[in-house]
Amino acid sequence: MSSVPSLEMLDGRTIPQFGLGVWQTPADETARVVGEAFKLGYRHIDTAAIYKNEEGVGQAIAQSSLKRDELFITTKLWNDDQGYDNTLKALDTSLAKLKLDYVDLYLIHWPCPANGKFVDSWKAMIAARDAGKVKSIGVSNFRVEDIEHLAAQTGVLPVVNQIELHPLLQQSSLRDYGQTHGILTEAWSPLAQGGELLDNPILKDIADRHGKTAAQVILRWHVQLGNVVFPKSVNPTRLQENIDVFDFKLSLEDMAAIASLDAGKRRGPDPSELN
Ligand code: NAD
Repeated sequence: MSSVPSLEMLDGRTIPQFGLGVWQTPADETARVVGEAFKLGYRHIDTAAIYKNEEGVGQAIAQSSLKRDELFITTKLWNDDQGYDNTLKALDTSLAKLKLDYVDLYLIHWPCPANGKFVDSWKAMIAARDAGKVKSIGVSNFRVEDIEHLAAQTGVLPVVNQIELHPLLQQSSLRDYGQTHGILTEAWSPLAQGGELLDNPILKDIADRHGKTAAQVILRWHVQLGNVVFPKSVNPTRLQENIDVFDFKLSLEDMAAIASLDAGKRRGPDPSELN
């Protein structure tokens, strides 16, 4: 079984650097997929209210013999639920669906800057953390200016910023900002959602030299950069393949070759524009 490292967060808690993302995992398949992942050594699950599959995650947790403190469960506040009272209500709904007393990490899913509600949402998250309903609080898709605004208004920095990040969109300025302030960077769509990137000849060449697949090379690149990653798959062979990245190391030359693939290409929305 693979041994996944943990990283320390700003609040002193730790997070497994590797996990499973369940965006687009159908609700009626989620319990099966998460259960398979637990058997393969996954302990960190990344879900969200908007994924409509928190119940399936909760079912897999309830059916597993793993102890609650062996698991790391993240969920996210959806955009329509921003604001102080709505945030607290949405968290209770997520906890009920997950059948949990607390989540390990609760994130504001998108800043929605034009709505002007993320500071109030953040204040509610601080209160929820103080009440023990969430262990750690963070953000997703936040720009530097959004994080600075939160910090100025509340004095509390997020422990993570979960952003779109893969070889085609390497996000060096947000990563550098995180590193300077002790905020971990979580990479969403770490494989750029599969597809053509996995046929890239530079990645295939590196993969052949290490006896690995292009997907494994990309995931290893994330790990060596210090990113937290949770690739999505519903396929047991790929679930196994994706976690099998802790027994080899990319050289500095490999890392530089992957750095050269940066193209500023997004798969998802620009956080400045989504409201
Ligand atoms: P991903 O980069 O993890 O790609 C997943 C797709 O890649 C799969 O559907 C499959 O088609 C393919 N794939 C997976 N493993 C493979 C392998 N070994 N070989 C070949 N193909 C493979 O994309 P994602 O699901 O968008 O992102 C991962 C997770 O990030 C999500 O499940 C979710 O938890 C999170 N996420 C968060 C946000 C956000 O706004 N915070 C947005 C998107 C995703």
